[in-house]
Amino acid sequence: MLDIQNFIDGAFTHALDGESIDDYNPATAQRIATIPRSKFADVELAVTAAQSAQSTWSALTFEQRAQWLDRIADALEEKTEDIARTESMDTGKPIELARRVDAARSVSNFRFFASFGRQQTEMTFEMEDAMNYVHRTPVGTVGLITPWNLPLYLLTWKVAPALLMGNTIIAKPSEITPLTANLLAETLLELELPNGVFNLVHGLGPEVGQALLEHPKVKAISFTGGTETGRIVARTAAPMFKKLSLELGGKNATIILKDADLDNAVDGAVRAAFSNSGQVCLCGSRIFIDSSIAEQFTQRFVEKVNAIQIGDPMDERTTMGSVISPEHLLKVESYIDLAIEEGGTVLTGGTREMTGFNGPQGVGAFLRPTVVENLPHTSRCATEEIFGPMVTLHSFTTETEALEMVNSSEYGLAGSVWTTDLERGRMFSEKMDTGIVWVNTWLHRDLRTPFGGVKNSGVGREGGQWSLDFFSEMTNVCIKNPDSN
Ligand code: NDP
Repeated sequence: MLDIQNFIDGAFTHALDGESIDDYNPATAQRIATIPRSKFADVELAVTAAQSAQSTWSALTFEQRAQWLDRIADALEEKTEDIARTESMDTGKPIELARRVDAARSVSNFRFFASFGRQQTEMTFEMEDAMNYVHRTPVGTVGLITPWNLPLYLLTWKVAPALLMGNTIIAKPSEITPLTANLLAETLLELELPNGVFNLVHGLGPEVGQALLEHPKVKAISFTGGTETGRIVARTAAPMFKKLSLELGGKNATIILKDADLDNAVDGAVRAAFSNSGQVCLCGSRIFIDSSIAEQFTQRFVEKVNAIQIGDPMDERTTMGSVISPEHLLKVESYIDLAIEEGGTVLTGGTREMTGFNGPQGVGAFLRPTVVENLPHTSRCATEEIFGPMVTLHSFTTETEALEMVNSSEYGLAGSVWTTDLERGRMFSEKMDTGIVWVNTWLHRDLRTPFGGVKNSGVGREGGQWSLDFFSEMTNVCIKNPDSN
């Protein structure tokens, strides 16, 4: 049992009122940690620490801060195994996935921003009689609020550019998955990052998260999470004119055009549907298939889904672990019941039964990957974000019809199109109302590209230049040429 504490002003400390929350391993239902149930007073302490560290941190040169990012990357890389095991234990995801995706990306987030930052050149705009240049300053103390599905991956995606641009940080991870954020804090303490530059407050969203949103000295909020929480974030922070980045939910489409290479398309669609138990905001949970190949695709898709190895997340052979919590399991199961009520056919999955590991007491939150067909694309199961191992299949006869179905969603985060005709793939992609489209691949990330959604999937973009812009203020300085009148 770990006793996790807040990290404020370079020291670990319990919540001021001493309250705590339990943290569980969803694969075993075992209590693994307690964390502080922080409130406004704890946020106040963190803000004070961050504010007093601000001038020292922002006085460092850009290169000095980039060197800090490299140092953090190196230190995290040495802890790869620790990060992977901790993340797997906290989320129920397979250790292999946690190592390959979560741990690796946490390191590369720091490396990428250090290197990308060094390539920045000053923006200048020449006029006939004057010269403009853009001077960047930090925003100040920023709040980073992150979800449970990719805990350290998404936190470091924000921490790295925020530090690079000279900000001080108050981070609030999901209370369901606090452990790797704590590991990051321990690492920063070992590295002797100046006190107060990075602060971590644990607790419940409506309590400590809300306090962060409401604090007048927190000048920007970078939020990744659900759309409904995003509305609360916007409602609270926008009237205070805080800078806001909202990376929200998705109901992403996978589109299989009739000329798709079926081997690739089936592999890609399964990966897009069930990676991390379907708990990635980019997961393709609505699969649209050209009717001429629907039967063939569906048969192969189901075969491939049935080959997924569900089981003990610590077993290297496991390809799918548990979902995040017993409560989330019930939520996903309620959608399976609804699918049946709505007239859907469950082609595979739909139950907790499995041949593999189900926690020592058989109580882990495991659900078989579930594939449903025969539901209208307008049904609740095909329109609401389920965020679990469940997908719906739909067929179309023309690409115009496919586009109408794809774009009927209130979300617009990501999608993938599968075709051997790249021009057709390009044309289709450009007509999709979404922030990101992959053609013949899925979650193939170049960290320089804009990441984010349209419609109810968010406001703003992160990644590369967009992150640096978010975490800095720009002053345009216009200098009149003394020789001109
Ligand atoms: P939530 O919206 O429930 O929570 C996200 C974070 O917000 C958590 O840290 C949560 O704390 C906190 N929070 C909750 N209420 C408040 C509040 N009133 N004020 C401030 N903070 C609050 O999302 P989940 O953690 O359930 O994550 C899943 C969601 O995240 C899915 O919808 C998914 O699509 C989305 N997501 C989007 C991504 C993107 O890039 N677009 C990437 C990954 C996930 P607590 O946990 O304590 O409630």
